[in-house]
Amino acid sequence: MDAHTHRYSSDPHVYILSPKDLSSITVESDYVCPGIHPWHLNESHKTGVIQWSKNSKCVGIGETGLDRLYPDFDRQLESFLWHWDLAEELGKPLVLHIVKTSSDLFHLIKKRRPKTPWLWHDFQGSHQEISEALKFHPQMHFSFGPRSVKKTNFANLWQTIPHEQRLIETDDSGVSILEVLEFSKVSKSEVENNFHKLFSI
Ligand SMILES: [Zn+2]
Repeated sequence: MDAHTHRYSSDPHVYILSPKDLSSITVESDYVCPGIHPWHLNESHKTGVIQWSKNSKCVGIGETGLDRLYPDFDRQLESFLWHWDLAEELGKPLVLHIVKTSSDLFHLIKKRRPKTPWLWHDFQGSHQEISEALKFHPQMHFSFGPRSVKKTNFANLWQTIPHEQRLIETDDSGVSILEVLEFSKVSKSEVENNFHKLFSI
């Protein structure tokens, strides 16, 4: 039920392929998402993303997105749109990394409505950002990691999200998904069902 991780584990998880994994042909995990992270933009990895996108383990595209704390916003945007198109071509979910760019994101999805479900990973935003995202993309899902589930407003934010569109993750923390589940106090069966449904697994 770990919707987004960069580490292998024995719990069911979606493994986000690193630049190194993109050029290899095997990984341990059963479910993977190929993408070029906005921190590691590199044109040459597009070939690896396309190859992995045809693999039977591929359950989504990304992570991709926009990060104002990192350089090359224009290249990040080009890469994001490329992943967005690929996800729609394949009818797969898109996994988003959004840091200090929610207004850019809303501007984009208002103009160009997404056609597949999206997962806003490591969501650290507000109630207003949840409702704004859902207004332009009703199939936006939100995933919370070890830091966010410990925040005082977590339970409150969780309640704002449609029940079938909320998930949990470990990202690159090294914390187990069972610990995240425990801290979050959310329903195990609910996040398990949402995990299976979003990624069609
Ligand atoms: Zn990540």
